[in-house]
Amino acid sequence: MSFSAVIFDFFGTLTPSVPTDVWDEHAARSAAPLGIPMRQWRQALDESFADRAVGALGDLTETIRALARSCGVDPDDETLAAAVAARRASQRELFVFREDAVDTLERLRGDGLRIGVLSDCTVELAEAWPSLAIAPLVDAVVLSCREGRRKPDPELFRQVAAQLGTPTGECLYVGDGGGSELSGASAQGMTAVMLRADDWAVNDAHAREDDWPGPFVSTLSEVVSAVRDPSLITR
Ligand SMILES: [Mg+2]
Repeated sequence: MSFSAVIFDFFGTLTPSVPTDVWDEHAARSAAPLGIPMRQWRQALDESFADRAVGALGDLTETIRALARSCGVDPDDETLAAAVAARRASQRELFVFREDAVDTLERLRGDGLRIGVLSDCTVELAEAWPSLAIAPLVDAVVLSCREGRRKPDPELFRQVAAQLGTPTGECLYVGDGGGSELSGASAQGMTAVMLRADDWAVNDAHAREDDWPGPFVSTLSEVVSAVRDPSLITR
């Protein structure tokens, strides 16, 4: 067994876990210009995640307008722009990486590995991607909101491997387990390893494979040694 590519999940994997009180505080900031109570807005965001993650509500302005209307508010352009700006700013605060993320990607690239990112995400990450510190280190990025499908849809795993030019059997997939991604990656022939970092318990993740029976690492840095010596994670 030897790997030629490593594919990372984004949220809770390359980035730290986000506890629910942070989501509440962020929701409050975009709810305020609209005059919508935080709890109602948070519910609208949560209930629309499945649609937003496949890009079904359009760009960010169209998305916020649709959500506001679902809460009974029809915002004027100025109000809408303020809510969009607040949402964009709070989302970008989530695009901050674990302290060993950039170093891990650089070391993997130094070892000749190709790097993929596969994320269930909404339009905000797609917008921000080119400006992120890791973007130049990533050879292929597949985002659910662009593809119109979510993990564990097999096509997403096949697609990121195809963009990397790597057979799925030579891909190591690393994720915190949201969206049944570890089973999904395994089903396509990848070796899947869970990142169970010390903040894993506080993550507010969707459909996470908490009972994943396969291998795990505790830090991103451990992925480098796992690639150099796959016996550490394969059985
Ligand atoms: Mg995740």
